[in-house]
Amino acid sequence: MDSLSSLASLTPEQFFGGVTKAGKALAAAEKKGNVPKTKNFDFSVQETCCVCQKNITPPLKVLRCSACRAPIYCGRECATKHWKYPPPQPPGSIPGPTHKELCPANKRHMERREYYDGVLQSFPWGRLESDATFSFDIARGRFGVFGGTGTGYWSHRGGPIPHSNRGVMESMLASSPYGATIMKAFAAFDHTDGADLLGTRHLTDVQGWKLEPVLIPYLNFPSADKRPALLKSTLDSWDEWYQWRKLSQESPAALLMSFPMTVYRLLVHCLEVTGPTQASANQRRALSVHLLGAEVELNYLPLFAELALLLPYLLPYHDIQLVVFGSGAETLIKAAKKKPSSLVAKSSLTTPVYE
Ligand SMILES: [Zn+2]
Ligand SMILES: [Zn+2]
Repeated sequence: MDSLSSLASLTPEQFFGGVTKAGKALAAAEKKGNVPKTKNFDFSVQETCCVCQKNITPPLKVLRCSACRAPIYCGRECATKHWKYPPPQPPGSIPGPTHKELCPANKRHMERREYYDGVLQSFPWGRLESDATFSFDIARGRFGVFGGTGTGYWSHRGGPIPHSNRGVMESMLASSPYGATIMKAFAAFDHTDGADLLGTRHLTDVQGWKLEPVLIPYLNFPSADKRPALLKSTLDSWDEWYQWRKLSQESPAALLMSFPMTVYRLLVHCLEVTGPTQASANQRRALSVHLLGAEVELNYLPLFAELALLLPYLLPYHDIQLVVFGSGAETLIKAAKKKPSSLVAKSSLTTPVYE
């Protein structure tokens, strides 16, 4: 109960402030070329069994699947169970896949890990912890953009429940005698994803990114010559994107741009649904992209406009429509009903609001 009661008294200021302080201390130590190898400078995560959710602490040892090395178990019993049965889910939710179903894809993914770790480590802020995880929270802390509502594009829920779909955690707490107290404490971390779209004007690039101007990939340009050049070929790596955007790799922009860039990659490299020659000035083509289960994405929805800079060479004469599905969008639309002058309330499929 001790850890639960300390979680229940955690305020957003303490949580966001503590992580920000740690991120800044880490960045300062790196600058001096001296990161002490102490617990204060290691942001590894507690290993948890993917079936029973138990923390794996001595005398328990981490057990991994010998084929894919991906899931982590507290012991043989959970590992055997997971091979044939999906891990327990909150009542009413769709059961997840079994390990047997996932193992081959896990294996392919884990084989590419070294490559992806290399990409991450090419950024000055892309540090791997001693357990080979990357802390998104600490990375945001370095730049002072780790926070709840009011942190521009970086706004999000935080603390012990980072998602609006609280899933397993909520159902576990519902059956705990301390559940109600803890849920009340967690409510302090609540945040409506996309809350800034309930305002009457879009955030400016500076208000949204909350970074030093040189670290920002601007989407509003004072004049046409300040716009990134029209691409003559596809962008295939972050290096290329940063170069095209004339940004230093010091910028943490990739942390949020990875979402619109995933859509770009899907359109350009994976889905062969359309192509450069499939539309013309007289015959424009509509392309509808559906984002399923969007939550945090709503906080930086304007960044998807990056696609309008990236795609004209590859998909000229295409009208791209982004359709966002999920409970996050529903919550936002309900909130907008009470705010008729908000961006969300004023926009529709035929009348987007750009102001
Ligand atoms: Zn277990
Ligand atoms: Zn496996």
